[in-house]
Amino acid sequence: MFQFPISNLQFPIMSCIFCEIAARRAPADIVFQDEHVTAFMDKHPRAPTHILIIPNSHIESVDAIADDAAAWQAAQCLRAAREIARARGLSGYRLITNTGADAGQAVFHLHFHLLAGRKMGWPLG
Ligand code: AMP
Ligand code: ZN
Repeated sequence: MFQFPISNLQFPIMSCIFCEIAARRAPADIVFQDEHVTAFMDKHPRAPTHILIIPNSHIESVDAIADDAAAWQAAQCLRAAREIARARGLSGYRLITNTGADAGQAVFHLHFHLLAGRKMGWPLG
């Protein structure tokens, strides 16, 4: 199987499931990967298409984007979202990133939920 070499991982002090997925040491249904970004199917999908897009490097959340390097990694996730949406022919999609426990963040490795395939309500509850 094709394995993209990931050499720029910054290992967190605690073990991180999304770092493990990006490094292909933990199982996931990976749908996109390059040297910056990994995207895989959410294990508890909330929409017909529910993909998580993460930087390969460990960044805790949007709140940890404190320099240009981290901002660039986050931007790569948005670029990947566009490429995934185009490749899948999605007519519309929603990107969500929960930031902090009070906002519902459960995994503290930056991730964008890409949701599509059903009508999305707005405003959010
Ligand atoms: P959040 O609440 O924004 O931190 O979202 C975490 C998301 O990660 C949830 O939607 C989980 O279903 C998903 N998730 C957690 N662990 C895994 C995993 N090993 N593989 C795929 N999705 C996962
Ligand atoms: Zn991580």
